[in-house]
Amino acid sequence: MTRRRIFVLGSANIDLVFALDRLPREGETLAGGDLALFPGGKGANQAFAAARLGGDVVMIASVGADPFGQALLASLNGAGVDTGRVRTSHRPTGCACIYVLPGGANSIVISPGANADLDAESTLSRLHDLSENDFLLAQLETPLETVEAAFAHAARIGAITILDPAPARALPPALVANVGLVTPNQTEAGVLLGDPDLPMESFADAERAASRLLAMGSRAAMLKLGAGGCLYLCPGMDAPVGVPAFPVKAVDTTAAGDVFNAALAVALAEDSLIQEAMRFANAAAAVSVTRPGAQNSAPDRADIERVLAG
Ligand code: ADP
Repeated sequence: MTRRRIFVLGSANIDLVFALDRLPREGETLAGGDLALFPGGKGANQAFAAARLGGDVVMIASVGADPFGQALLASLNGAGVDTGRVRTSHRPTGCACIYVLPGGANSIVISPGANADLDAESTLSRLHDLSENDFLLAQLETPLETVEAAFAHAARIGAITILDPAPARALPPALVANVGLVTPNQTEAGVLLGDPDLPMESFADAERAASRLLAMGSRAAMLKLGAGGCLYLCPGMDAPVGVPAFPVKAVDTTAAGDVFNAALAVALAEDSLIQEAMRFANAAAAVSVTRPGAQNSAPDRADIERVLAG
């Protein structure tokens, strides 16, 4: 079997989480709970989760020459990600300050830092050996022109491109044209289609949304439906493939979408059929929602086997 690599192009952030009774007013100093520090960023989360599941993962990202950057590299290396192509920026490592209020609502301030510095030229040079057997997986927390250039290159080579369109934003048609598989959740599908009230309560709703995404130029669409599972559609199919989620008690859905995308890429890189890959991704995401956190909620193979075995 050809060993297909998974190149993950994306963000790497350190998340600083403060528990607070309320948000500070302007000019006010407020004492919060103990600081919790987690490696995060959608790109790093997806690379970490894919490597933990046994994927052959190469990360393309940008971090600062600072302790946060070192911590992110150590976390990714620990999961088995090839971090040799992560560049060091003169800007500080990306960081998110997350204020968690009683009841779980949060307010977040993001400093993209080094992520904003991930330019097209250095990224293309890091994709020099991308082949038609490989996957390129990206999200939208790094500059759009870099994702666009990387996907154009991947499409020329015939590599398989997967775009997680998160955080939600409208996409230029030139990027959409080079996306092999787009994987929005409900909110992201609404933004891509310019329809914020897009219903996605059922597979039938999701099929309509997927058809509209294909009409916009996506070559295939995988809709993530939360506790509803996922739905896949590509041109020429008689009917979409819908796979229900595994019934679990969700405690924290942070990074469920990241784990889903990572597991989907790993299964497809192992030449699984689409329905099998969707089941695998649902199982991986189901494990992640039963655990708090982002990277630390990512399952290993044994966790997934347990869910698949029921
Ligand atoms: P995102 O995390 O990007 O918002 P979703 O909420 O759609 O995306 O979740 C992604 C995937 O995680 C779903 O397709 C499903 O497989 C799984 N998932 C999410 N919420 C649940 C849940 N409550 N129970 C089981 N699986 C879930």
